[in-house]
Amino acid sequence: MDMRDKRHIEGPETNVAAIVLAGGRGTRMRSDIPKQYLMLSGYPLLYYALKAFQESCVKTIVLVCGKGEITYCRKNIVEKYGFDKVKFIVEGGAERYHSVYQGLSCIKDSSYVLIHDGARPFVTGQMISDNLKTAIEKDACVTGVPSKDTVKISDGNGCVASTPDRKNVWLIQTPQTFKTSLILQAYEKLIKQPAINVTDDAMVAETVLGIPVYFVMGDYRNIKITTPEDLKIAEVFLEDLKKDSVKNTSL
Ligand code: C5P
Repeated sequence: MDMRDKRHIEGPETNVAAIVLAGGRGTRMRSDIPKQYLMLSGYPLLYYALKAFQESCVKTIVLVCGKGEITYCRKNIVEKYGFDKVKFIVEGGAERYHSVYQGLSCIKDSSYVLIHDGARPFVTGQMISDNLKTAIEKDACVTGVPSKDTVKISDGNGCVASTPDRKNVWLIQTPQTFKTSLILQAYEKLIKQPAINVTDDAMVAETVLGIPVYFVMGDYRNIKITTPEDLKIAEVFLEDLKKDSVKNTSL
């Protein structure tokens, strides 16, 4: 990023917020402890995403947690690790989009908002600044990676309906970043009349407002921790990252 971009992103006109979502039940993890609090290399899973946003140019972080978890989150994560950009901790709702809406309600006065799954510990500073730069230029963007596998659309009855051209297929991650006024408008409409099966934020912008959403290159390591196998993969990624940082400091 050149200095002009940095000034633009960090300038007083750009009041950037992030919503970090940790309000899911994580039933596919088959654990009594909600997955966002499971330990990964000595820290709770949620620590990693919050650390990335704490160290970024984001000014305000909203942490959305599960029912009855606000005090736990404040004491055991936010205060314990000194995440002082977390200005709001709110309870989420039944579906992910309800949780996003709770988060959006806290940061109506921000100019841009990054929405991120707390279950994705490998979000990087580069992804955050690339998202912001694209959102400032284009209003709406999603992080993703080109699919390495062929993807097929099912007819719902166990049979292939179609095969999209792989070069146009992207696997979508978070953060997803928007001009706040636009995404708020989209969510307000959606909450009043939930008509679609919403699985990400870009979908809300695409379907409710019909605005273009642009891709930002993510990373194949930016996985969402969903099942016990994902935790094992994440441990391996973290070991690699630690080795890389030791190599870089000794150069
Ligand atoms: O359910 P899924 O794995 O798609 O959830 C993605 C992220 O959204 C997770 O970080 C999860 O904690 C969060 N979530 C939420 N509120 C819900 C459901 C999911 O904050 N009701």
